[in-house]
Amino acid sequence: MDGFSDNDISHVVDADKAHVWHHLIQHKPFETVDPRVIVEGKGMRVWDAKGREYLDAVSGGVWTVNVGYGRTQIADAVRDQLVKLNYFAGSAGSIPGALYAEKLIGKMPGMSRVYYCNSGSEANEKAFKMIRQIAHKRYGGKKTKILYRERDYHGGTIGTMSAGGQDERNMQYGPFVPDFVRVPHCMEYRAQWDLSGEAYAERAVQAIEEVILAEGPDTVGGLCLEPITAGGGVITPPEGYWPRVQALCDKYDILLHIDEVVCGIGRTGTWFGYQHYGIRPDFVTMAKGVASGYAAIGVCVTTEAVFEMFKDDAADPLNHFRDISTFGGCTAGPAAALENMRIIEDEGLLENTTKMGERMMGNLQALMEKHRVVGDVRGKGLFQGIELVTDRATKEPVAEKDVGAVVAECSNLGVIIGASNRSVPGLNNVLCFSPALIATPDDIDQITGAVDKALGKVFG
Ligand code: PLP
Repeated sequence: MDGFSDNDISHVVDADKAHVWHHLIQHKPFETVDPRVIVEGKGMRVWDAKGREYLDAVSGGVWTVNVGYGRTQIADAVRDQLVKLNYFAGSAGSIPGALYAEKLIGKMPGMSRVYYCNSGSEANEKAFKMIRQIAHKRYGGKKTKILYRERDYHGGTIGTMSAGGQDERNMQYGPFVPDFVRVPHCMEYRAQWDLSGEAYAERAVQAIEEVILAEGPDTVGGLCLEPITAGGGVITPPEGYWPRVQALCDKYDILLHIDEVVCGIGRTGTWFGYQHYGIRPDFVTMAKGVASGYAAIGVCVTTEAVFEMFKDDAADPLNHFRDISTFGGCTAGPAAALENMRIIEDEGLLENTTKMGERMMGNLQALMEKHRVVGDVRGKGLFQGIELVTDRATKEPVAEKDVGAVVAECSNLGVIIGASNRSVPGLNNVLCFSPALIATPDDIDQITGAVDKALGKVFG
């Protein structure tokens, strides 16, 4: 690393060990091993403090760095913007804010308004607040309930955890916010009913309808779903699921909120995951890939019809959305997001994602032929996963420590892969792959090659 001696780097690692509270992981192991400190990135690759190179198959660990590392075009645009104007509260406009909103809406037919904030959780909170306010403004305080789905994840705040379908993540953090109601998952591989394909999709949507009827349709204002469930196990919907979900929302006057924090901005080969399924959301939230981690940004996009509901009565002092996100006014986010989107367009990264996604899917299916432990291969574009089971007939999940061993072995082989979140106890058995959208055929083969070797080593 330029300008850093070995002593400097060992000081960094010591300082990290002494003072940084890392996200998501247990710290006990750091009594005997050093935490991973990533110091540099270029394209698809990162280097740690010990100088080891890794191929990053998870875009910064959590589906974020969609256009890859070391993009000076984004860094320069952010720098120029910060020097010109770093910040002004979001009650006023800004040049990058206006231009990014225009460009983004151009990719989202039917959508109209862009609300800026800082993270995926925050973007989801904004949508929840809007749904709640509509319930009060339009429905006399009824329709405050928001439905969410088992195994979906929407963030780490208490509000978004109230809509959290991953039990292990929620344990010990309750009590949660009232009027969030869970609906059953839709995962054909672990179907709750003895059905498959469209029949399973129909039953899964019927299960949502049963919840709506039990709660009372006049109490349900929103339905929040991931288009493809990410951390909960890379769960793709069966054919016919989404049009039926849309019809259900139309039937009961329920606002459809699609959480695109992972699927958004090209990850699945279209700008947004929902665009594969022909649905018309009322809210679309996004973060991670919006600026590929070059700046913090979250976005809640709505239709004009939603926006109109907040300006229909100027005489009412409560009529507007009385919300602010201080750093939603920081110009670094939209400045980075604009360049991020330009790169995806200029380099044809949606097309690349589709093509490389097909290659990855083919490679993973070949692994399924070879390794009995691979029970299922799922995903779309460069967003894929494989579910590991001890027995394909019973679908008994492998032990979590074995999943960890595969991840560790891939790391030893120089490839960083991911595993599903602490979702359902005993079911954290999905390996996740989400390389940057710039991946080449060689990158894809290196990733799946490492997984092949790691599966062989751990499971024989
Ligand atoms: N929604 C989904 C689908 C996510 O996967 C995540 C984070 O992993 C979030 C929301 C929360 O985003 P953030 O961590 O930026 O708050």
